[in-house]
Amino acid sequence: MAAIGDYKVFNDPIHGLVKLHPLLVKIIGTPQFQRLRNIKQLGGTSYVYPGATHSRFEHSIGVAYLAGELVQALNNQPGLNITPAEKLCVQIAGLCHDLGHGPFSHLYEEMFERNEWTHEMASVDMFDHLVEENNLMDNMTNAGLNLALDLDFIRELCLVKLILTILPPPQWLLNGRPEDRSFLYEIVANKRNGIDVDKWDYFARDCHYLGMKNSFDYQRLILSARVCAWDNRNEICFRDKEVFNLYDMFYTRFSLHKRAYKHKVAKAIGLMIIHAFRIANEHIQIRGSVNDDGEVQIFNLNTARDDMEAYTKLTDDVVELIRNPQNANAALTGAKELLDRIHSRNLYKCLGEIVGAREFPCENLLPSVSGAAAREAEFHGASDRFLAEMSIFSPHSSRSEAEKSRRHHSSLLRSDMLSTLPLCTALLC
Ligand SMILES: [Zn+2]
Repeated sequence: MAAIGDYKVFNDPIHGLVKLHPLLVKIIGTPQFQRLRNIKQLGGTSYVYPGATHSRFEHSIGVAYLAGELVQALNNQPGLNITPAEKLCVQIAGLCHDLGHGPFSHLYEEMFERNEWTHEMASVDMFDHLVEENNLMDNMTNAGLNLALDLDFIRELCLVKLILTILPPPQWLLNGRPEDRSFLYEIVANKRNGIDVDKWDYFARDCHYLGMKNSFDYQRLILSARVCAWDNRNEICFRDKEVFNLYDMFYTRFSLHKRAYKHKVAKAIGLMIIHAFRIANEHIQIRGSVNDDGEVQIFNLNTARDDMEAYTKLTDDVVELIRNPQNANAALTGAKELLDRIHSRNLYKCLGEIVGAREFPCENLLPSVSGAAAREAEFHGASDRFLAEMSIFSPHSSRSEAEKSRRHHSSLLRSDMLSTLPLCTALLC
């Protein structure tokens, strides 16, 4: 029997003292989890908001903690009987839900075109790798988990948004728990209404490090959480009088998007990082796992995510590798120059932004623009057929060169479109 260790207390700037189960502590103490220390939560935004250098590491601990708090509050409800194993699984999912993020979090998803890949799927791959590499099976069994069922349950908790998009209700094709336990799938990531502990943590944490106000009170909301039967499912619900607290939650989200996540300078810097990584891609070699012939496999920035041993080594640190390569490498010059420009504030210039009052069909853009527009649509999480908003950046930082770009790009947009849209821009560099 492997020793399970002790509960540990973490001092968190957002939640205060955070006491975690020994199995969670064990997971935190692995190289695969520690990797998150070097992945910034807000990508390029830290180059605009100087305090926003927090990482996926502390966010993940915060989500595990809040998942435990919500489970505990719900368990006061008679008849719910959430087992200690269920609580632990939900907390493990909270801890591991972002393991699959690449350098600069969401920026990595935009660097290389690969439609089927998501960081959630990589989180599950990395979780499996973490369990195997660190021989955590015994620790999990000793902590009361049923591996045959609970490993699937944890994976599904991490993937629940994707699964429920592909297999929407009324089907119930999840293996980890039966349909009457559906509320457990709403704690870490809530596909139904977006009210989940992942957001509660990053809203509070991002506001704290950005220096912005957050009037949403998740502790108060947790107190009124109940599970109610609705449409054959058991769903997490809140008291009606909490509606204003929830308005605050959605306002905080809106405000974070407007003021930080989509800040035009942060977006320009994000784009420069993406371009630098694309240039450097083939020229960075990352050692991965050993293949069947006993050879160490080598991966690049794009393919490292296919091998969890290589992916464990891929973090924001790549920036320094490009800027200060061990051996002079002419192929990295273009990427290095772009990253150096960020450090000397010689940035891409934003020519304009469109914030559509309604969704705008991509077909209304000329073909030469629509490819770039579709990519930008993905950047903002919109579908590839519609744009909710889009931005044009010039690679030039000088006003006169940027002006030339503005005229050039304006001519690519259909004239009738310019007159019908409230605002109109496209991403072209
Ligand atoms: Zn998260």
